[in-house]
Amino acid sequence: MTKKWVYLLHEGNASMRDLLGGKGAGLAEMANAGLPVPPSFIITTEACNEYNALGKKFPPGMWEQTLEAMKVIEKESGKVFGDPANPLLVSVRSGARVSMPGMMDTVLNLGLNAQTLEGLAKATGNERFAWDAYRRFIQMFGRIVMGVKAGADEEDPFEQVLREYKAKTEGGQDTDLTTDMLKEICAKFKAIIKQCTGKDFPEDPYEQLRMAIAAVFDSWMGRRAVDYRNFHKLPHDWGTAVNVVTMVFGNMGFDSGTGVAFTRDPATGEKVLYGEYLLNAQGEDVVAGIRTPKKIAELKNDMPEVYEQFARMADLLEKHYRDVQDLEFTIERGKLWMLQTRSGKRTARAAVKIAVDMVREGLITKEEAVLRVEPEQVDQLLHPRFDTKHKEAAAREGRLLAKGLNASPGAAVGFVVFDADRAAARARKGEDVILTRPETSPEDVHGMLAAKGILTQHGGATSHAAVVARGVGKPCVAGCEALEIDLERRRMIVNSKVIEEGDYISIDGTTGEVFLGQLPTTVPNFAEEKDLQQILKWADEIRRLGVWTNADYPRDAKRAREFGAEGIGLCRTEHMFFEEERRPIVQRMIMARGDEKKRQEALDQLLPFQRADFEGIFEVMDGLPVIIRLIDPPMHEFLPPREQLIGEVTELRCKLENETISAGERKQLEKELAEKEEVLRVVESLWEVNPMLGLRGCRVGIMYKGVTEMQVRAIFQAACRMAKKGIEVHPEVMIPLVGHVNELQLEREKLEQVAKEVMAEEGIEVDYKFGTMIEVPRAALTADEIAKYAEFFSFGTNDLTQMTFGISRDDAEGKFLLEYVERKILPANPFQQLDRDGVGQLMRMCVEKARRTRPDIEIGICGEHGGDPSSIEFCHMLGLNYVSCSPFRVPVARLAAAHAALREGRPRDVD
Ligand code: PEP
Ligand code: MG
Repeated sequence: MTKKWVYLLHEGNASMRDLLGGKGAGLAEMANAGLPVPPSFIITTEACNEYNALGKKFPPGMWEQTLEAMKVIEKESGKVFGDPANPLLVSVRSGARVSMPGMMDTVLNLGLNAQTLEGLAKATGNERFAWDAYRRFIQMFGRIVMGVKAGADEEDPFEQVLREYKAKTEGGQDTDLTTDMLKEICAKFKAIIKQCTGKDFPEDPYEQLRMAIAAVFDSWMGRRAVDYRNFHKLPHDWGTAVNVVTMVFGNMGFDSGTGVAFTRDPATGEKVLYGEYLLNAQGEDVVAGIRTPKKIAELKNDMPEVYEQFARMADLLEKHYRDVQDLEFTIERGKLWMLQTRSGKRTARAAVKIAVDMVREGLITKEEAVLRVEPEQVDQLLHPRFDTKHKEAAAREGRLLAKGLNASPGAAVGFVVFDADRAAARARKGEDVILTRPETSPEDVHGMLAAKGILTQHGGATSHAAVVARGVGKPCVAGCEALEIDLERRRMIVNSKVIEEGDYISIDGTTGEVFLGQLPTTVPNFAEEKDLQQILKWADEIRRLGVWTNADYPRDAKRAREFGAEGIGLCRTEHMFFEEERRPIVQRMIMARGDEKKRQEALDQLLPFQRADFEGIFEVMDGLPVIIRLIDPPMHEFLPPREQLIGEVTELRCKLENETISAGERKQLEKELAEKEEVLRVVESLWEVNPMLGLRGCRVGIMYKGVTEMQVRAIFQAACRMAKKGIEVHPEVMIPLVGHVNELQLEREKLEQVAKEVMAEEGIEVDYKFGTMIEVPRAALTADEIAKYAEFFSFGTNDLTQMTFGISRDDAEGKFLLEYVERKILPANPFQQLDRDGVGQLMRMCVEKARRTRPDIEIGICGEHGGDPSSIEFCHMLGLNYVSCSPFRVPVARLAAAHAALREGRPRDVD
């Protein structure tokens, strides 16, 4: 028995999307629900695959089944295909599983020829209408099926003929062409086809049908469609179905029309019919924008009964599919026909509102509502943004300067300032600034905090700029290599445009775009986002992963808590060392070198500052766990850069060579020189070829006596004192960059001793945990050993990714990594999306080994991946206890964690 390749509408339904395509399944479902759908049939996606497998041949039996189906729709429509007296005309449309631009356009009016158009003229009593339909058909068929194309920079040959004829009329419109003119145009169109393709336009309706079906199948493997699928990671073996649908005419006069509508407003989510229509028009007229369509509400006046019927059907379809529907309809002489129903695309705002409303209306469950909102959409709702129309207008005006990495979402507008101090000073005066730097370092943080946004020439997704920006919710475009920044002249050149300090720019951290001038922004307010709060509340009921935050300051912790954070997963204490009044003390501590007394003095001075920081954080996080990480960066980062010191020393020496300076000045300069030379000596002694693999992380604590002891003392003093005030504290002390169990064991002994001492001094006991970051592959591989000395692990996936791939987290993106992703050498940027196969495998092994040693070990993640939905899903699959991300990612992570729980076993990347 031959396979079934062709389905009539009553043989299909909505669940057969894979076989019948989205459009076909929708038509079948509507017909079966009793809605008016023109008689139709569908050739399956399997037929398309078989056609391509057979080297562009219809599979055996398919054409015969098509002819049989034609007989059925002839019967249903009361017309006969190719009958000169009463011809059946059809449209032929492609239809894959998901709507997919890039495939074949629709061919309308198929079945027309010199004879059948007479029949159409008679049936409609309108000869001009019939010739116009014929003209449209030859044009569409010639272009879409037979491949007539204009050469480069040439006008479309069909349009050229049309233009010449329109010029001969008074009105100059399509509608002004006379029947005789249309007859001549049709003849010319056929001549164009012959000339361009060497083939005659097929007059035989069955030949037309055969060619159109083959053209739909061919378009599946066309370049546009293949590119689209590659871009969206869609499989190439889905195939497309072919829909053959009886023609209904919306251009039969002013009792006819055609339109498109959504069952709810796709921009706001409001429950109103939203769409437009045109009277006396065919489908392509609405889309082509030749005439301005009317709002769907006006159909109520134009055709009240049709409107009522349409509104009823829209409601029915929405209830049936339990989702917003995007509908296409045609009215032929007062009769309504439904031509398409599919799930409607919507904005982030609409997605949230519709999901919440539909739960309230009893249409969907809370779980479904949670799944209807994408985590990225939450992000869009929380950041100031630019309207697309403003961005498009700016791009048209040539104001799109460049594109970098979308490092931290949101929109920011301000003056370009190339230095952190000047940025902070101008911000104090109330000016909006965009701090623009080759890259940023901890020394720039005050400028970054003061700026509206951050733009860097170098650096990637985990660069200092990106991490800090996300942490404080500032928009950031990083690694924008097109900028040529000249710090000395305070200007930059971007694609030969010169931008001076003080010029306005606008940056979009969501897309990575940089614009010249000021673009208007809109700012959302989380507290007012009631629908979003509702979705997140439902998400919280569903998710299993905890959502914590990375926060270094009480103000960040407070914001994160408002966003729903359930703990602090990473407090990077070194940021506190960089603040203005503390930095000289830190420098004194480093400069003390072997002088224990001096070092201890400096540490004693730092202690109260650190204690106050921690007290603030414990207070904000009352009742929740707070993981404080001991100092991590290499010490040289707290001292001025080597090149700067060399410059300063040289300058001082030059000044001293000047014999005319006074003795007093000389003495002063010599003193300065001696100080600088001393700092330079220390910096040079600290200098490392490979600082990221050098004296940093726990190695600092081990090699610099007293630093970590001071930090632990500050943590426990703060915890005890806050506890005495009635605050519920849960400190967790975290050691960074452990590679060998001995490092941890050593630190643990030392620090537990301090903790004990402080609690005795303070006269109060607090519960605490001691743990480590897993950032070095060796730590992951020996997790069973390490877990003996750690009550918790936190994956530092920034470093873990860097060390597993051997790719620098600081500058690889601009150098080659982004191009690697573009050229598909890597599937994604591993610093943004966790690499499941490599880094992920280490994590899995680590979790298993650690739990074997210590079943109740608490394991989380605090690398930048903690805010990325795909990575969050992976953490859920690994059974981690929590993810920790920057405050502004907390709502995104809450939703992503719920998605992971709901999709258990059905990864989002494949969906
Ligand atoms: C990490 O390495 O993932 C991490 C969180 O630590 P940092 O980014 O501070 O090195
Ligand atoms: Mg790290």
